[in-house]
Formats: sequence, C-alpha cells, structure tokens
Amino acid sequence: MSDRAETETDERREQLEAELLERREAALAHVVQFGDPVLKSKASPVREFGPELRAEADRMIAIMGDAMGVGLAATQLGILRRLLVFRVGPDSEPTGLVNPKVEWLSDELAIAEEGCLSLPRVSMDVERPLHARVEGQDVDGAEIRIEASGLEARVLQHEIDHLDGVLILDRAPRQQRKGALRALREGGSYSPPMPDESEASDAGAEHREPKHTA
Ligand code: ZN
Repeated sequence: MSDRAETETDERREQLEAELLERREAALAHVVQFGDPVLKSKASPVREFGPELRAEADRMIAIMGDAMGVGLAATQLGILRRLLVFRVGPDSEPTGLVNPKVEWLSDELAIAEEGCLSLPRVSMDVERPLHARVEGQDVDGAEIRIEASGLEARVLQHEIDHLDGVLILDRAPRQQRKGALRALREGGSYSPPMPDESEASDAGAEHREPKHTA
C-alpha cells in the first residue's frame, strides 16, 4: 500500500471512530445519570403489552447499541417499568425482557469489573453468582426462561438490580465505592486498582474503559 493510501485509511478510521463517539455521546444524553433519584427507585411491573411496549424496547435497543452497552434498564431512561434489554456479544440478538424474576442463582461466585451507563467514567469490581436462571416475558407477553452463565448472567443481574433501584456502587468493595463516589462528585474517573499496580507511579491516574458497560 502506498503512503498516501495508508494515510487515507488512517483518516477514514479516525473519522469512523469520531462518528461512533459522537453517536455514543448522543445516546448517553438519553440515559439518566448518577444523582437522579430515579436510579434508586423500584420499577413497577408491566401489565400492558402492545405496540407501545415494543416501540419502547426498540428505542432502548437502539440507545444501548449506540452507547456501546451490553444492557439497559428502562429505569436508566427514567421509566419506572420492569423492562430491560441486553446483548452480550456483537453476534447475538438484542433481547427485550419484561417483568424479569431471578428464579435461581448459583453458589459459585465470580468477580469482574463492571461499568454502568448511568455512572460516567467509573468502574468497579462486582462479585456476583456465576450462573443465573431468570424468568419473565418477551415484549409480546410470551413467557420466557433464560439459563445464563458468565457475562450474560452478570448483565441480567446488573439490569434487574437497576429495576430494584440498586447500583454497582451498592455492590462494590467499600474502598472502590468511596473512590468511585469521589470521582462522580468531582467529575473525575475511577477504575479498580490492577492487582500489580503497586509499582505504577501514576496508579489510578489514567482511566481504563471497563470491558462491559450496562
Ligand atoms: Zn447500569
């Protein structure tokens, strides 16, 4: 490839990245951010199924996609109804889930770093059951049951927490919660210390994006 073609490819890639970031910002403008009391409120069951609910779920799926999130709860759009959407991989179908109930959680736990679309620029380590069985309805009202493991189980638990007014701040280790709260109040950023970060002189100075945000 010639130097010129390479430069053009670089420019094109930068342009695409800029467009994606712009779309992410636009999507995040719809998402309720830390400090809004709605995030601590419990959502009510959905009783009516129909085109309105479907349209709501489609809108949530679009916002989740543009925001590059793996899940989104209606609460995060200021809507206190028990509706969530999730998509755990680029190849999987985005799914809407209504009135979700955790029917079973494994004793086996796992810790992973989580971000939240409602908590800008912070992430925390959260310990959760590794496997979960969740029951609920699809957007048309049909009963569904999801046997989830790993990331899928984690995202479902994160979103159902939102429907109950619970945030990752409530589940993070105390020190991390303190660090994240300070960053949220001061407009800074926070990510959990890496296990071997003691050697790094600028520990915590640079914010890593969490792998998954929901
Ligand atoms: Zn969240």
